[in-house]
Order: sequence, then C-alpha cells, then structure tokens
Amino acid sequence: MSGWYYDLEGACLYAECSQEWRNWSLLELIEATGVVPDLPELQKPDEYVSKLSGWVNRLNEIRERLRCSVCKQMMIPNYKYAKNLARYNMTVASCQSGEGHDQNIYLNHCWACREIIDSRESRIQVEKRYICIHCGSGPQKSDTYTQGDICPKCGARGMTGEGRSRLCSACNHSIRLPAAHHLTGPRSQRVRNLT
Ligand SMILES: [Zn+2]
Ligand SMILES: [Zn+2]
Ligand SMILES: [Zn+2]
Repeated sequence: MSGWYYDLEGACLYAECSQEWRNWSLLELIEATGVVPDLPELQKPDEYVSKLSGWVNRLNEIRERLRCSVCKQMMIPNYKYAKNLARYNMTVASCQSGEGHDQNIYLNHCWACREIIDSRESRIQVEKRYICIHCGSGPQKSDTYTQGDICPKCGARGMTGEGRSRLCSACNHSIRLPAAHHLTGPRSQRVRNLT
C-alpha cells in the first residue's frame, strides 16, 4: 500500500476509486470493499481511515523489530494490547518459545522525536515509562523529569553538553534533545536557555 497523502496535505478523505487500483491507498480499499473496522475507536468514518492508516504505517515500522533476538522468530503481540492497539498506541510482544527468549517487549514511537522505543535497548524507566534512547524523553506530562536528567542507556544521572546534544560520562552514550516545545519537567526552562 502506498500514498499516505493525507499526512502531507492534511485531511484528504475522499476515495479516488477511479484511478488505477495499483495506486489505491487504504482509503480506496476501504471504500471499495465496504469494510468497516470493528474497533470502537475506529467507528467514526471521518477518523478511521487516518487512524487505521497511521496504525498500518506504525506496524510496518515496528514489524522489523518484531523478531525475537534469540531465535529470530516473529514474536506474538500480547493479546491484551493487540485488542486495544488503537487506544494504547503501542505494541507489547513475546516470543512463543517462552523463558530465555524475548518476553513482554515494548515497542512504540517516541512521542517527542518519533524514533522507535524498543525496551530491549531502552531499558531505563521513569515513572513506569521507558526513556527514549535517542532523545531522552520520558513521560510526556512529567513535572519532575527533564530530558538529560538520566542517561537512557545506563541510568546514570546528569548528562552534560551544549545545544541539543547531551553525553553520559559513565557510558559515553549521547542523545539529541527534542525540540524545545517537547521539553518536560522543572529544568526544561534552563535547558531551553542553553539550546
Ligand atoms: Zn525466541
Ligand atoms: Zn525520542
Ligand atoms: Zn550512560
């Protein structure tokens, strides 16, 4: 499937079924088949196409990470989350081979920098959220945590640096802080002044 043009041009919500089917996007496919996705979050006709296509895009990006790091088999999304994908906006998956293989792996896009958060590499949590290994963001609404407070790779406190780059003196991991309006917590103003 190709052509997520409504991301580029805002809401283009009318199907163009007259064009060659090869060029159809999800929008035309849904129109032509009359399929209505059976999810409570996807019942509004003017929302489900963009929500569903966003979900498909996201799954495609996440799919390559859905292999168990031990045996390389595809992991199975945990049912509780799969059922509520549209609501939770994330994936938790496990390898069927059980113990010793990847279990309860959390995969999501960082709300601040849009890179993928994979709990196999982003192991450090703040307020029960994995910190993004790329930009250091934690909970979106945190009023205690500011990006760079903790190294997302080793958990050491107080990354240092100038502009938007921060370095961990304990493990040498570096991050690039997200845009100023995505900074959280009490030290965000100070960080803004430095960037
Ligand atoms: Zn496995
Ligand atoms: Zn990030
Ligand atoms: Zn570190």
